[in-house]
Amino acid sequence: LTQLFRPLDMLGMVYRTIRQGLIDMAEMFRLIDTHVEVADKPGAPALVVRHPSVTFDNVVFGYDPDRTILHGLSFEVPAGSRVAIVGPSGAGKSTIARLLFRFYDPLSGRILIDGQDIATVTQASLRAAIGIVPQDSVLFNDTIGYNIAYGREGAGAAEVEAAARGAAIADFIARLPQGLDTEVGERGLKLSGGEKQRVAIARTLVKNPPILLFDEATSALDTRTEQDILGTLRDVATNRTTLSIAHRLSTIADSDTILVIEQGRLVEQGNHIDLLRRAGLYAEMWARQAAESEELGEAAE
Ligand code: ADP
Ligand code: MG
Repeated sequence: LTQLFRPLDMLGMVYRTIRQGLIDMAEMFRLIDTHVEVADKPGAPALVVRHPSVTFDNVVFGYDPDRTILHGLSFEVPAGSRVAIVGPSGAGKSTIARLLFRFYDPLSGRILIDGQDIATVTQASLRAAIGIVPQDSVLFNDTIGYNIAYGREGAGAAEVEAAARGAAIADFIARLPQGLDTEVGERGLKLSGGEKQRVAIARTLVKNPPILLFDEATSALDTRTEQDILGTLRDVATNRTTLSIAHRLSTIADSDTILVIEQGRLVEQGNHIDLLRRAGLYAEMWARQAAESEELGEAAE
């Protein structure tokens, strides 16, 4: 029993540490490395990504043995496509992201990237292939430039600047007296949630992985900034596989495929038009959000 609870305690500790705002990344990886559930198999090969497809094949998962969260989830994300995952809060969307990054292994079923079961390859190669931007990103207590360049060892100034533009944070940085050399966090400038998020997106753009995973990454931003970033993300998404977990449906309506998850099950799948025609959960969520934004629009006038 202690075996089962230890990983949860550990994650709780990571979570609390992150909540404090800033964390030394080496410390975070040390904590994650002590995650006993997930370890490389002896002699595990590296993941080789030629066509970055993602497959969930009948995945069953629960954090706790007597509470199943994902009930045999299957879906296919073709290489190079833009797929969104939507659904009510608590449906299991972030859990899908955590399993893909292999913070946990499924209880049964398999997760494949380019046909390779992610449980059989090295975690280092898996994590190199995926760029995750979570809802609340963590920055180092260092300069903005360091935080962006961290995405990839040896990233040059031109790449850092291009990534900052891609994440709609370049103008903000340009206005700082020390620019990219500005210290952030406890030692320096206090960034807003949205600014932190844009730095984290820039870091992921520098990493330039074949698979991008956004977990409500832009939901802390105002609609205008969100649209700016989504525009550039669409450009970088070319030749890349993008999974976007989204709360605001207007930001993912143009996805190739939208997966609608409810209580750990795939309940609808299709593009925006297909799903509106179905008049099911997605159509209902869409109508509700449209009504809400209309109210907000009127309130702002
Ligand atoms: P979503 O992202 O769709 O809002 P999550 O995947 O975060 O949902 O959570 C799905 C369910 O799993 C929720 O009921 C949540 O309470 C539970 N859950 C999430 N994280 C943990 C955890 N670390 N330990 C136990 N239960 C969890
Ligand atoms: Mg979530």
